[in-house]
Amino acid sequence: MPVCQSCHHKWSWKQTFVKSFALIGGMRCPYCDEKQYITARVKKRSTVIPLFIVLLTAIGNFFFTPTHVFLYSLAILLPLVLVINPFFVELSSEEEPLF
Ligand SMILES: [Zn+2]
Repeated sequence: MPVCQSCHHKWSWKQTFVKSFALIGGMRCPYCDEKQYITARVKKRSTVIPLFIVLLTAIGNFFFTPTHVFLYSLAILLPLVLVINPFFVELSSEEEPLF
């Protein structure tokens, strides 16, 4: 779970999950109200992983069976990524450039 870089409180899964949808402009710490940003490393990773899953299921779909397999795997994998994502979030007190 992410730790606030300002007050060093650990955020709960629920707090992180809700706040991680506010990707632009950072997230306010529920304990000290300081703005926290997701690190560039984590942002990159959270973009690459869903893309990778989509690509993988698309390739699997192309070589093996019809379209519904692709849809089912997306319906299972994408929520799974959303649920486990808060465990891997890292916080920074300053917004880091992506590139
Ligand atoms: Zn804090």
